[in-house]
Amino acid sequence: MTALEAKHPGENEYLQAVREVLESIEEVYNQHPEFEKAKIVERIVEPDRIFTFRVTWVDRNGEVQTNLGYRVQYNAALGAYKGGLRFHKAVNVSMLKFLGFEQIFKNSLTMLPLGGGKGGSDFDPVGKTDEEIMRFCQAFMYELWRNIGPDQDSPAGDVGVGGREIGYLYGAYKKLAREHSTGALTGKSYGWGGSLIRPEATGFGAIYYVERMVKQTGDKMEGKRIALSGFGNVAWGAAIKATELGAKVVALSGPDGVCELPNGIDKEMIDYMLEMRASNRNKVEDMATKFPGKAVFTPGKKAWMVKCDIACPCAFQNELAEADAKELIANGVKYVAEVSNMGCQPAAIAAFQAAKIPFGPGKAVNAGGVATSGLEICQNAEHRNWTAEEVDKNLHTIMNNIYDMCVQYGKQADGTINYVKGANIAGFMRVANAMLAQGII
Ligand code: GLU
Repeated sequence: MTALEAKHPGENEYLQAVREVLESIEEVYNQHPEFEKAKIVERIVEPDRIFTFRVTWVDRNGEVQTNLGYRVQYNAALGAYKGGLRFHKAVNVSMLKFLGFEQIFKNSLTMLPLGGGKGGSDFDPVGKTDEEIMRFCQAFMYELWRNIGPDQDSPAGDVGVGGREIGYLYGAYKKLAREHSTGALTGKSYGWGGSLIRPEATGFGAIYYVERMVKQTGDKMEGKRIALSGFGNVAWGAAIKATELGAKVVALSGPDGVCELPNGIDKEMIDYMLEMRASNRNKVEDMATKFPGKAVFTPGKKAWMVKCDIACPCAFQNELAEADAKELIANGVKYVAEVSNMGCQPAAIAAFQAAKIPFGPGKAVNAGGVATSGLEICQNAEHRNWTAEEVDKNLHTIMNNIYDMCVQYGKQADGTINYVKGANIAGFMRVANAMLAQGII
């Protein structure tokens, strides 16, 4: 870590993600001198390569805009690079390196043949028109198309990139590459290569994992109050599945504040989440304006002020701080599951673990999204569409398997489960063994 900090000063998110993994695997790693000999750790922390490129496009006023685009191809030991694209004004190399690093182990946990990668741009979708988004996606693809493909690197969505953006990106890719390689991008719409359940998959998978965490303690989902942060694709899928299992979604949030939902969320409100995302306004207050009384808006506050049994960050890295963890604990939270990547700050995780509150880490809890991307690639390769039931059944099996591996590797002497350790060790071992078998490359 000292060497890495000196080599990459100021890359805080990246260093935070690496530290968490290295601390978890240290003991197991030291039992494998062959890993040490092949310098697996020194190699795995550095991406295979990073592409950085200029993206120039014309806005609605005819003005020329310039953004930066990136693709981090991190590790291909298990398969072609796989991971989302993030469009957000704060995107930089450190953020994409942390996301790419997490992706290696997450993809490994799915047991599918997926390497790890991530990309994106500092393009800010907030307030943009549909045409501006299309032009930006096309300009982004002018640069990236040569470096992606089903057997090379397959990007998908992440924050700021959903079905609409994937459509524009794929259209540009197909025109430039002059071939219909549907597996070159996932998260496509159904009808031209997309998979049923992919939009819901991250949220569904997360709730399948949470359900196991709850059952592990002899408890049940029914009647549990769940606070979700964000209101995007991930929170949407989680809200559907949690409600279906009889839990009550009591909070959603946005950069502008929190909406408390005293009676839980209903179908109409869940559907409205999609409109809120499509509007590019990025305001959760719109929910309270649309459903007065059913949603009560408080500006400037986070979802964690709402009393709940289960807290699920679904928005951005480091969105849950130590003070939030203390507030949740004081309000009686029973389970915490990160659905966003690295949603909790290290001190917040330490606070939950010290209070003996089961804590599920993002790379395990949210792996259902990329797992279903893997299933989308399978469907593309066999020129077939699976039914929703078939995809959901596969997703559920994968999440159960991930949960079981976390228990296997994370069981502590006192009988409690350290899910962070379990996920990191299980994810790491598969990649490390593959790297070892493939030689020094
Ligand atoms: N962005 C998602 C993640 O963090 C999905 C990636 C994918 O489907 O390739 O895992």
